[in-house]
Amino acid sequence: LIGHDGVIRPTIFAEMSALASRTGAINLGQGFPDEDGPADVLEVARAAIANGVNQYPPGRGIPDLLHAIANHQERFYGIALDPHRDVVVTAGATEALAAALLALVDGPDDEVVVFEPHYDSYAAVVALSGARIVTVPLRWPHFQPDLDELAAAVTDRTRVILVNDPHNPTGAVFGAEVREAVVRLAHEHDAVILTDEVYEHLVFNGPHVPIATLPGAWERTLTISSGGKTFSTTGWKIGWISGPAPLVDAVLAVKQFLTYVNGAPFQPAIATGLRLPDAFFARIAEDMARKRDILGAGLQAAGFDVSVPAGSYFTVADASSVGARDAAVFCRELPERAGVVAIPLTAFASPTHRHEYGTLVRFAACKRIEVLEEAASRLSVLR
Ligand code: PMP
Ligand code: GLN
Repeated sequence: LIGHDGVIRPTIFAEMSALASRTGAINLGQGFPDEDGPADVLEVARAAIANGVNQYPPGRGIPDLLHAIANHQERFYGIALDPHRDVVVTAGATEALAAALLALVDGPDDEVVVFEPHYDSYAAVVALSGARIVTVPLRWPHFQPDLDELAAAVTDRTRVILVNDPHNPTGAVFGAEVREAVVRLAHEHDAVILTDEVYEHLVFNGPHVPIATLPGAWERTLTISSGGKTFSTTGWKIGWISGPAPLVDAVLAVKQFLTYVNGAPFQPAIATGLRLPDAFFARIAEDMARKRDILGAGLQAAGFDVSVPAGSYFTVADASSVGARDAAVFCRELPERAGVVAIPLTAFASPTHRHEYGTLVRFAACKRIEVLEEAASRLSVLR
């Protein structure tokens, strides 16, 4: 986590957002929306602050939010949760991931199977837990795992199979056969499935299928989500984790000493968001699909080969088709050449597999349409 020179490295997101502000480039690097989510949700937080909801809330989360999460899982997926036993609110999905991994694994005899490229905190938290990370590569252009490679990665040392679907950074949505293989392997090797579904409402050819709904999955699955992506409130850091009570209790035991409790005025606001009508959830997926199309068309017009994503904020493009040999160098030069910031996929990959992603670049589509159009027009200088 700290470089050999003793310097704490900023995350790739901090580095790329700093590059964007320094150069004035359009930031298609770090994934955060550039406009606010639903006004009703924002208003509830504002009113909560004005009405004195400013002290420590309960550690599991306020009852209103716990009920809203349980109702949401029932409404969209038919998952029945006991709101007071099967759910814990966390400081974003990031804390849920950290608390779960620290609760479930312990030391170098435990292995965590992770698909790569992957969200940056996965490898960092596995390192903090002292466990070993075992990665399964997702390859251009479809980014679905090879089922034999997956089967070979899962052994009796595997304590956790960490899934992220829809997937950051690739935008892939796993096929049914992948979900089924994960559940079968978790059974065979008595592993827990930890599934990060923060982009659950940004699936373009829906519906989203939580792995917890597969036969035999529930009793060994912890599901993570977050209000950040769904309600465009990434700065509020309200996430949650749900699953069978004994597993959730183990997460809570760690979580209470990481943050103790989370943002009191934001919790009723996210509860309001989770109760919005179905039309809201359908609309955000449609809006993001439109943005994906504009970004994808712009990248193609600029000469990139593009992997069309099925979900998430992100689109991966191959920069070798615009003459790049190294995506990291390409991304460092892109603000100067085209006034756009993007992230090399190598930032999300392990040293073992990094070479497989050497010319691939992640672009975030979660920006206003006029911003995406301006980015597309700037990128056309690469042609
Ligand atoms: N997991 C994935 C796959 C993500 O993309 C993100 C957000 N970038 C997170 C977790 C973290 O979510 P939060 O901001 O709610 O901690
Ligand atoms: N989820 C966003 C991304 O992947 C931002 C993550 C972060 O800033 N830590 O770009």
